[in-house]
Amino acid sequence: MDEDGLARDLCRHYVQTLGRDELHFSRSHCYQALALAVRDRLMERWRETERRYRTSGSKRAYYLSMEFLLGRALSNCSLNLGLKGALTTVLMRHGQTLEDIESVEHDAGLGNGGLGRLAACFLDSCATLGLPVTGYGIRYEYGMFRQEIESGEQVEEPDHWLQDGNIWEIERPEYTRRIRFGGRVDTFSDAHGRLHKRLVDTRDVLAIPYDVPIPGYRNDTVNTLRLWKAAATNEFQLGEFNAGRYPESVASKNEAEHISMVLYPNDASENGKELRLRQQYFLASASLQDALERWRHEHGGGDFARFPDDNCFQMNDTHPSCAVAELMRLLIDEHGLEWDDAWKLTTRSLAYTNHTLLPEALERWPVTMFARLLPRLLEIIETINGRFLEQVSARWPGDLERQRRLSIFEDGDPPQVRMAHLAVVGSFSVNGVAALHTTLLRQGLFKDFSELWPTRINNKTNGVTVRRWLANCNAPLSRLIDDSIGPGWRTDADKLRDLKGLADDASFGRRWRDIKQQNKRKLAALVATECGVEFPLHALFDVQVKRIHEYKRQLLNLLHVVHLYDRIKRGDTDGMVPRCVLIGGKAAPGYVAAKQIIALINAVADVVNRDADAAGLLKLVFLPNYRVSSMETICPGADLSEQISTAGKEASGTGNMKLMLNGAVTIGTLDGANIEILEEVGEENFFLFGLTAEQVLATQNDYEPNGLIESDNDFRQVMRLLEAGHFHPDQNLVPNALLQGIRSPTDPWVTAADFRSYVDTQHAVAKAFVDQERWTRMSILNTAAAGRFASDRTIAEYNAQIWRLTPPAFPVDSTLATGAANADIMK
Ligand SMILES: *Cc1c(COP(=O)(O)O)cnc(C)c1O
Repeated sequence: MDEDGLARDLCRHYVQTLGRDELHFSRSHCYQALALAVRDRLMERWRETERRYRTSGSKRAYYLSMEFLLGRALSNCSLNLGLKGALTTVLMRHGQTLEDIESVEHDAGLGNGGLGRLAACFLDSCATLGLPVTGYGIRYEYGMFRQEIESGEQVEEPDHWLQDGNIWEIERPEYTRRIRFGGRVDTFSDAHGRLHKRLVDTRDVLAIPYDVPIPGYRNDTVNTLRLWKAAATNEFQLGEFNAGRYPESVASKNEAEHISMVLYPNDASENGKELRLRQQYFLASASLQDALERWRHEHGGGDFARFPDDNCFQMNDTHPSCAVAELMRLLIDEHGLEWDDAWKLTTRSLAYTNHTLLPEALERWPVTMFARLLPRLLEIIETINGRFLEQVSARWPGDLERQRRLSIFEDGDPPQVRMAHLAVVGSFSVNGVAALHTTLLRQGLFKDFSELWPTRINNKTNGVTVRRWLANCNAPLSRLIDDSIGPGWRTDADKLRDLKGLADDASFGRRWRDIKQQNKRKLAALVATECGVEFPLHALFDVQVKRIHEYKRQLLNLLHVVHLYDRIKRGDTDGMVPRCVLIGGKAAPGYVAAKQIIALINAVADVVNRDADAAGLLKLVFLPNYRVSSMETICPGADLSEQISTAGKEASGTGNMKLMLNGAVTIGTLDGANIEILEEVGEENFFLFGLTAEQVLATQNDYEPNGLIESDNDFRQVMRLLEAGHFHPDQNLVPNALLQGIRSPTDPWVTAADFRSYVDTQHAVAKAFVDQERWTRMSILNTAAAGRFASDRTIAEYNAQIWRLTPPAFPVDSTLATGAANADIMK
């Protein structure tokens, strides 16, 4: 693990493994050689970890997720392995920086946004806590699209992230599983006259696992993320070959491999797309088969009654919820269990996390599609539902309306399977992701379920890993924190509280501010490269980065920018604070309104950034291709974090947590985890505005945005500029639908309702920022209060209340035992 060993391996891999000339430097090969050297140091720990889990027979948990938004691995892995310092030194000898070398690594973008990034933070925390948790996902050939901006509009480019190879995965063909689609259900009786079901005439696809190492923070634990790639079966092709149909056989191979070809780029779910359902079943079936086999292997065949004591599956949203019926199928059809026993085991092994209340995001599949693709699963779901509705009718006799509401099947044209209902019925735990979200789940979406099973729904407020989101992405601030309160916060984020005592220390404040300036310089450099706009460092860096969605209200942010611009044009600039507004995020390719929002931001930016009157006071950019690696530069350099969703719509948010952790102050509504952030940091260190969730609901009855606009000079003026096409040289290009939305009495996002309080609160932000000492104090107190939002806390709660795993001890004779025993995080 020392510098000289690392230096030797770097050269060895460069010359021997990659076959490069050591006199000729190539950044991409240097990256590969470095990654191989780091991977070497992971391998023994990885094998040892798996051996330890296997021999201890500990209970395991599995995190089933269609998305893992991992980002880059090199510096984060080296941080967790305790190698980052040595790596930096070795590179310095060659005149290189780690940052520069890592910049050639493609982000592993196997996710859309918050949900996928949460899964990645959770894996980091599980490994750091030494918990036997395996992630299961899909190895998409193409991850989240690359966003380019052309003439102000989003253009999607395919993300072929594997084209230069992927050092951070190991193919494991020996654990290939077979996934069966289509066919029909055949009933037969065995030698004892017992009836069984089996699928015949199926079209099978193979699932080949690729394992990605997930190192814990300096604890000699390396967990596994197993990603499935789809492949054609051999015999299927042979059949076609023998029939002389060569092109057809190649086509069928493609059909099979399509399953893991591309991530659906919609973060509010894709309904009705057959390929998406195929992907979901593919993930659920491969992962359950794999876990079952591992369990049988480790427990000598397996006494099925013990299965839930040894296994727990956490479903990340309804995407993997085919697992409910698939586990039943495996237990009954493949392992011969009776229905009642199988149901007991299933419902004691599965847990479900809900991520959204938005109706458009609730997954539903047409029954006909299910019947065609997964006929046996549909049968099982029908039986589950039949038995479930008996329970409902026993509890509420004669209440047919309630049965209709609760049913897993939704009448209609076409009839559909409600995956959220399947997930709730099949799970022993159903959780929301922030306190408000869980409350709203109990009162709204899952009200009936909550009455039927009062203890099933629980809350687990989201979190983020402080290793990636502070220690790794903000080294200067981490060093300052270490110098002041010690390094223990990396594995015990509550220790950040100790910074509170330093909030009024003037010299500490100066160092804090200097570091923020340093980070702002880096962010400004990124903006200059990507957008060609200069951000002056003394300005307030005002940041909103997240998926573009109407409920997240990038439009409200834009109204404020236009208001500031209007003030500048009117000469009303007294006391105006220079402000640089950065907005970034991807729009789903089919989401027209979101794409119009991007175009409008760019149109306004064009005018504002070119206007000499605004030069020293206001800048606006849309940063293209927002992703994990850009957030690693953005959150350390942000002053202000925009968390301005319509109250009641954002389940939790995690971007809010990353920004807070890095000392950004939040301007936000009472929504998602903002509420808990406000609670922790105190209202004097948080800029709160807007309607509450309850008040938003009440607007359904009377809401008159036009009145609000006309009675407010600032607002009227902002709308006039936008509607008159001030930002559009061509009147035909004015996005009237968007602007009419703001004026609509049925605007679900009630943008107009919050305009005045938002603008006033932004005014208070500017006033606070002028007093740099006061602002710095707020910044320090935000970091100090961020401990609760560490994913280590979240995972500790999942474990204590849902999974109930015990980290298996290191065997005394383990060569790795020393590192774990002292858990020496002090260096
Ligand atoms: C954290 C993160 C998100 C989630 O952001 P929210 O503000 O919570 O919506 C989305 N995308 C990326 C790349 C992230 O890092």
